[in-house]
Amino acid sequence: MLEGLMQDDFQLTVAHMLRRMRSLYPHAEVVTLTPAGTVRASFGAIAERVDRLARVLGSLGLGPGDRVGTFAWNNQRHLELYMAVPCAGAVLHTLNIRLTGAQLAYIIDHAEDQAIFVDASLVALLEPLVDRLQAPRQYVVMGDDDETAAAIERLPGALSYEALLEAAGPGPFEYPHLDERQAAALCYTSGTTGNPKGVLYSHRSISLHSSATLMRDGLGMCHTDRALVVVPMFHANAWGMPHGAALAGADLILPDRFLQAEPLAKLIEAERPTIMGCVPTIFADLLRYADSNPVDLSSLTNAACGGSAVPRQLMQDFQERHDVRVFQAWGMTETSPVATYARPVAGPGGKDQAYWNARAKQGRPLPWVELRLMDDAGEVAWDGSSTGEIQVRGPWVAAQYFKEPADDEKFDSGWLRTGDIAAVDQEGSVQITDRSKDVIKSGGEWISSVELENEVMAHPDVVEAAVIAKPDERWAERPLCCVVVREGALDAHSPDALAADIVEHLRGRVAKWWLPDEIAFIAEVPKTSVGKFDKKQLRARLQQGELDGRVMLGRPGEAGAAAPAAKAEESSPSQAG
Ligand code: AMP
Repeated sequence: MLEGLMQDDFQLTVAHMLRRMRSLYPHAEVVTLTPAGTVRASFGAIAERVDRLARVLGSLGLGPGDRVGTFAWNNQRHLELYMAVPCAGAVLHTLNIRLTGAQLAYIIDHAEDQAIFVDASLVALLEPLVDRLQAPRQYVVMGDDDETAAAIERLPGALSYEALLEAAGPGPFEYPHLDERQAAALCYTSGTTGNPKGVLYSHRSISLHSSATLMRDGLGMCHTDRALVVVPMFHANAWGMPHGAALAGADLILPDRFLQAEPLAKLIEAERPTIMGCVPTIFADLLRYADSNPVDLSSLTNAACGGSAVPRQLMQDFQERHDVRVFQAWGMTETSPVATYARPVAGPGGKDQAYWNARAKQGRPLPWVELRLMDDAGEVAWDGSSTGEIQVRGPWVAAQYFKEPADDEKFDSGWLRTGDIAAVDQEGSVQITDRSKDVIKSGGEWISSVELENEVMAHPDVVEAAVIAKPDERWAERPLCCVVVREGALDAHSPDALAADIVEHLRGRVAKWWLPDEIAFIAEVPKTSVGKFDKKQLRARLQQGELDGRVMLGRPGEAGAAAPAAKAEESSPSQAG
């Protein structure tokens, strides 16, 4: 082999991001929302605090490879930890504040976190865990004076973050040499089955992932952007946005605990972010708020949405009513998390149904991510309609879970089995149809719960819809549609009339045999700790007879409805639009 003569041993590390913050973009700013209003700090000032924090970590005995937990909202101090912990050679372990006490205790013990940095406003959530942990931990409480003083009392031996930084004094810190393959961050998956599993990111994986998300076909963040990070910093590195902003020099706007539509809308109006990242539920709340209050969201030219399927109607309404363009991304904790991004496919861009159907796809894989579809018979063709499980590989895809044996069930000879079912079209654009555990098979044919939900959510009275399989003697399974409607909708119509109207609305949008036999009106769709529809809970409620469905206009195969066998004559919903 004739070897290339390049500086291949230059290490791709978070330390490079910190250097860029300090030397290239010292004037970029971080804005944090607090109960007292917004607090601002420049990248330059933050880099100086990161040096102090690195010294603090050393003085607490936290060194290379040690796990340092964070229990925090999206705020400036969390960003400081994002930088200081990996640059000091330790591992930043972001704890999901929405997990149950039992899950958190398991994760903290499993990760062997030596210290936990906790927001003063979250101490009450952490406190009940302290006695359940296998070993004592060093707690560091983050907050402003009054808040912190009271919170410190609640955790044994806790120290004040600000006091530690003050004592650490100014001046540069001598950072250790880092190998790009060493661990930088750890995040546990939400674990709907079994114990949560740790995904251990390396400096290299974080560097490559955040570089790729900066590309124009990804999030496309650059130094003139202001990025509002709503997606939590405790989940999958907030989609790489904090790292990306450090690399690109973009301003960061961090909402802390203020995630309701009103404070977010006001923050957007006041701070004029150009980019935002958040899950569909929060976007939907924001849309409802913006529809009924005079608020200008139009600074957002690039709103990234993902974490679960983004309803097509949500994107369309945002663009048409508020001039906000919402783009969909797909990925998972194991993929750092962004694996695909849906920039509209090039070509004549009319705003017809076909255009919106294309926008509602999850997009093409980012550079360096390779993707294939598999079913029991092998690889599935990219024809836009055949479906299989997505498998991915690439430099920011997990190869194994932390402290778990290499598992062939999940990691199939170098490919990560995602458990997501999708079709891929000839242009490589992915369309998720289901999670493998959520699929509905009716009369031997698949019904896509994601597509059905998308169409139900386009009904003007529907706020959220989750479709699950209901066991059926004749067809094995039929779709049961659990629907949350707008306030007052069930006063204006009887449940039967509204259910009938929803089914009428679906006619022509989906194959006849997909039409749900039953619609259950529910107060809200249960969500997991990371805001995804928790269909396991819905299925349990169904099993316990707690989902009261409205019986619809005939069963498949009876008058007024088509049997699953009619599928062949139907065009697929994605083609029919
Ligand atoms: P998590 O690791 O908790 O972030 O969950 C990852 C899972 O979220 C994926 O495997 C998908 O099932 C789901 N997901 C993420 N983004 C999307 C999307 N844009 N559309 C549909 N499902 C998504």
